[in-house]
Amino acid sequence: MLVDCHAHIDTDDFDNDRDEVVKKCNIIIVNAGVDYNSSLKSIDLANKYTNVIPAVGLHPEFIGEKEKELPLILELISKVKIISEVGLDYYWIKDSSLRKRQIEVLQKFFEIGEKEGKPLIVHIRGGMKDLLQLISSYKLKLVVHAFEGSVKDAKRIIDYGGYISIPPIVVRDKQRQEIVKNVELSNLLTETDSPFMGAKKGERNEPCNVRLAIQKIAELKGLSEEEVENVIYNNFMRLLNLQIRS
Ligand SMILES: [Zn+2]
Repeated sequence: MLVDCHAHIDTDDFDNDRDEVVKKCNIIIVNAGVDYNSSLKSIDLANKYTNVIPAVGLHPEFIGEKEKELPLILELISKVKIISEVGLDYYWIKDSSLRKRQIEVLQKFFEIGEKEGKPLIVHIRGGMKDLLQLISSYKLKLVVHAFEGSVKDAKRIIDYGGYISIPPIVVRDKQRQEIVKNVELSNLLTETDSPFMGAKKGERNEPCNVRLAIQKIAELKGLSEEEVENVIYNNFMRLLNLQIRS
């Protein structure tokens, strides 16, 4: 079974064909909430589709603008198994007080994730140094989604016990190909970030496109697609502390 550990299928982009997209292939989809509304939609989607796992969070880009929603989002965590989308975005957010606030909010999510043993699937753009410093104070189940750092950073995340998630864009992204080559398969996950980050520029991405990431990982590692798919699935089950199918 395929795993898309990070998607946004609650967005309008899927209003016309969501049913079809969710059922198109044999896949588990983690839907990440970016604010209170989309976190609620994540929970609704999981009620509707058995292969959708809901995650709730507040995207770092919305800190400031939507921060008043934070207490409501924190309350929703009790209803889900995964915390996402949370993180640090220094690519779009240049203001130093907002960046500081992103760290403070992420710490709140980390505290809850640590206390409740829930995985956090994090968005890190430009904030890798701060993330690495922050996580040293917590014991977390961590996934860095659409990982964009160096091989050295990836190794530090893995030494910490975290996972690196690979999107389909790996088919045309040399830096991510290096990550795949240098990281053990047991430390990788796959995702799409649908509808964003398509393998082809400008095209709507969808969860079943994780197949493209699986194909590229298989090629780079010299393994069969089936083997890569199974190991990634087992990695995901391990992350959620669920039984691995035999
Ligand atoms: Zn996302």
